[in-house]
Amino acid sequence: MKEIILAKYGEIILKGGNRPKFENILMKNISNSLKNVAETKLRLAQATVYVEVEDEDKMDIVMDRLSKIFGIVTITRAAVCEKDIEDIKVKAKEYLKKDLKDGLKFKVEAKRSDKQFPYNSPQLCMEVGGYLDDEYPEIKVDVHNPDVTVKVEVRDFAAYVYADENKIHGQGGMPIGTGSKATLLLSGGIDSPVAGHMISKRGVEIDAINFFSFPYTSERAKEKVIELASIIAQYTSKINLYIVPFTEIQLQIRDKCPEEHMTLVMRRFMMRIAERIARKNKSLALITGESVGQVASQTLAALDVTNSAVDMPILQPLIGMDKIEIIERSMEIGTYETSILPYEDCCTVFTPKHPTTNPKRENIIKSENRLEIESLIEAALEGVEKLEIYPK
Ligand code: ATP
Ligand code: MG
Repeated sequence: MKEIILAKYGEIILKGGNRPKFENILMKNISNSLKNVAETKLRLAQATVYVEVEDEDKMDIVMDRLSKIFGIVTITRAAVCEKDIEDIKVKAKEYLKKDLKDGLKFKVEAKRSDKQFPYNSPQLCMEVGGYLDDEYPEIKVDVHNPDVTVKVEVRDFAAYVYADENKIHGQGGMPIGTGSKATLLLSGGIDSPVAGHMISKRGVEIDAINFFSFPYTSERAKEKVIELASIIAQYTSKINLYIVPFTEIQLQIRDKCPEEHMTLVMRRFMMRIAERIARKNKSLALITGESVGQVASQTLAALDVTNSAVDMPILQPLIGMDKIEIIERSMEIGTYETSILPYEDCCTVFTPKHPTTNPKRENIIKSENRLEIESLIEAALEGVEKLEIYPK
C-alpha cells in the first residue's frame, strides 16, 4: 500500500502575512536535510508538508530527519487513498490492522478540506467508523474514551488514513534561518550544547567557538567538541566552528593575576574574543550555558563581571534550569553521551581552588589590567582555525 509522511508545522501559523516566507524557509530546510538521505517529493498544503519517499526502506530515516527539523510539530506515516469512499474504507481496514487489536475502543475523526468530496466530515466518520466496526467485530466504537483514533483527511490531491497514536512529536520551534544568527560558546561540557540547541530552536542560525589550550587540552578534547558540533548540526545543518588558541592567555592569567580571580578574567577574555568573531561574521548575539548558582563563576555577581566585558546581547537560555533538567534535555537531543566523555576542558586545567563567589567588577578589572589585553586578543584571533562541521 502506498504510504506518505505528513509533517505538520506549528507556530508558523501565527505569522499572518509573513507565513509564506516562513513556509519557504521550512521547505528549503526540509529538502536540504533530506537531500543526501532519500529521493523525496515535497508538497505543502494546509500547514502540512506531504513527503513522498521513493524507496520504502528509507521511510524510517526520513522520519528521523524530519523529527530534527525545527518548525515541525508532529510527524506521521499515513496510507494514501483515492478520493473515493470505498477505497478509503478498504485501505483503512488494511492499513490499521495492527492498530485495531481485539478488545480496543476506537473512534474516527475526519477532515474534509476538499468541499467537492460528496461526504462531509460527520458523514465520513459514520461511514468509515461503521465499516471498521463491522469488519472488526472485536473492537468497539467509543467516541469519549478511545484507545485508537482513526484519522481520515480528504485533501486536494488524495485522501489519507492513519492512527493518531502513531504520530511522533517533532522539535517544534521555528525554522532555522527565520531568526538571524548567534554565536555559541561551545565547551566540551553538558550545558553549552543544550544552550545552542535551545536558541537554534527559535529559528536562529548558529556559529560556534571553542577555546582550546593545547597541550593542556588534548586533540581528543578537540575531537569531542567537533563531535558535539556535528550533533547540533543535525538540527541546524552546517555549523562554522572557530577554534581559538587560548594557551598563551591562560598562562599569562595564571602567572600575573590573583588565583581567586583567574576564572573570571579568563571568562572576560572569552567573551571579548567571541564578540569580535561574532561581529565579523554578522552574528547578533552570544550564547552561553550558565545557570544561576551552578558554580562559583555563575553567581549573579560573577555573571555581571563576565557579561560586562562585552557590548552585545548574551543569551543564556539555561539560566533558570536545574542541572538535572539540563541533563535530561541533553539526553533528548543526543549530546549527553559525548559531553560526559572524560577529556579535560581548558577551564578545568586552570581552575583555582578558591574562586571568588562575590566578585566586584573593579577588582577583576584591576587584575586583568596587569595583562596586555588587546595584543593578547589579537594574537589569539590570528591563530583562529575555522572548521565547517556537517551533521553527524
Ligand atoms: P558547560 O557544561 O557548557 O561546559 P559549565 O557549567 O562547565 O558549562 P563554565 O565552565 O562556567 O560552565 O562555562 C560557562 C559557559 O562558558 C559555558 O556554558 C560555555 O558557553 C562557555 N565556555 C566555557 N568554557 C569554554 C570553552 N573552552 N570554549 C568555549 N566556550 C566555553
Ligand atoms: Mg564546562
